[in-house]
Amino acid sequence: TVAVVLFTSDLRLHDHPPLRAALAAADEVVPLFVRDPGVHAAGFDAPNRAAFLADCLRDLDASLRRRGGRLVVRTGPVVREVDAVAVECGAAEVHMAAGVSGYAQRREERLREALGRRGVVLRVHDAVITAVAAGAVTPAGSDHYAVFTPYFRRWSRERLRGTCPAPRTVRVPDAVRGEPLPSRGELSGLSPGLPTGGETPGRERFARWARSRLAEYEEGHDDLAGDATSRLSPYLHFGALSPVELVQRARSRGGAGAEAFVRQLCWRDFHHQVLAARPEASRRDYRPRHDQWRTEDEAAEDIAAWREGRTGYPVVDAAMRQLLHEGWMHNRARLLAASFLAKTLYVDWRVGARHFLDLLVDGDLVNNQLNWQWAAGTGTDTRPNRVLNPVRQGRRYDPSGAYVRRWVPELKDLDDRTVHEPWRLPEDRRAALGYPAPLIDLADGLTRFQHARGRGVT
Ligand code: FAD
Repeated sequence: TVAVVLFTSDLRLHDHPPLRAALAAADEVVPLFVRDPGVHAAGFDAPNRAAFLADCLRDLDASLRRRGGRLVVRTGPVVREVDAVAVECGAAEVHMAAGVSGYAQRREERLREALGRRGVVLRVHDAVITAVAAGAVTPAGSDHYAVFTPYFRRWSRERLRGTCPAPRTVRVPDAVRGEPLPSRGELSGLSPGLPTGGETPGRERFARWARSRLAEYEEGHDDLAGDATSRLSPYLHFGALSPVELVQRARSRGGAGAEAFVRQLCWRDFHHQVLAARPEASRRDYRPRHDQWRTEDEAAEDIAAWREGRTGYPVVDAAMRQLLHEGWMHNRARLLAASFLAKTLYVDWRVGARHFLDLLVDGDLVNNQLNWQWAAGTGTDTRPNRVLNPVRQGRRYDPSGAYVRRWVPELKDLDDRTVHEPWRLPEDRRAALGYPAPLIDLADGLTRFQHARGRGVT
């Protein structure tokens, strides 16, 4: 007997329930990844993520080959390709992880229907992409939690499923045709500082980071220059690491650092359960405040300055330049940059979210859109009208100015205080920096926002 395993956002062999179930049910298994042109058409295969994905697929293939198998890659509409592979190998079952986005939900329905017509059973596995399945815990009277803290309390009590080891051997039928694997060499427009993707480097990174930095995560994770966070987000995005395994391994180490890290992983699950229940929140305001955002046309120059890291607010510019260079940004920096665009410049959050998705190597419809909505005050933030002040935030989370100096070389010679407020320098010194004056007066931005929200909030 043969079973197909459709890999999606779960590109790993360790702790992979669909693969484990397929191996238990069948003598031979087809590990399949489909490159769906629909994803390309929707603009979701931005170069940084395409490169990381190519690394992940190569790593997965190499791991499968060490176990006697291989990865089968096909290009085409996903339902058509899975159906064709199921026919080619005479599969009785197809296994896959449950997804949450509108696309993933539709994919699952259409696969079930198409395969069902041939008598092939689709088996969908929960808690593969998240630690706790979306929808597994709900508050009384609703299909999802709309506030993080009660969700976290409930999530923390949930019993996680046991993890499973990587299989020892995987036998793949010869008959199934595959395509050459993509490689990052074929891509252009990559951020120069991209990490290498794949389960193997992901596992190494987690092991190294947990040994050396997890213990200090609680105090250190908001320090912009300290770079004390795990940088595991792209590995989690592509499922090269299992969130269940990470939670369990962090908990087994114990301590305040591990608890704080697990709490961040819970944020990821939180957003997944919101989007699973409200897939339209990837595009529309989760909680409409009746904003009349400035559009891309109205704010074209401000948006360009923000994207390029020349707003004149050093910590915002450092954040945006880090994004361009690394395809990644520190969480605090993302919050600052997003709040600045949405609230201070009063530009539609979707414009910023799109730019992030174009560059982030961990760019994720779930976490990106919902964090943007959080920062814009249209999402799940319980204080939606607070506005972050980039100068105060800079002083607080980058007290030595090291983060700004790293990314904004024009300011590298300024002292700890003026590095966050270069406009305080005497005019001749300021002009010599070659760094722009502030794009907007913060007080003006605040007034505009408060006025708009004051009118809009119902
Ligand atoms: P760590 O601090 O080491 O945290 C561990 C893991 O927890 C992360 O890898 C991530 O998977 C998860 N996590 C941490 N914070 C959050 C959060 N606020 N929401 C959801 N999950 C979280 N994260 C993405 O994975 N993809 C995105 O596209 C994305 N876009 C964002 C956009 C904005 C405007 C903001 C404010 C945040 C965004 N985040 C996104 C969340 C967060 O910034 C990143 O997950 C985090 O910075 C990744 O770095 P890390 O792996 O070192 O995190």
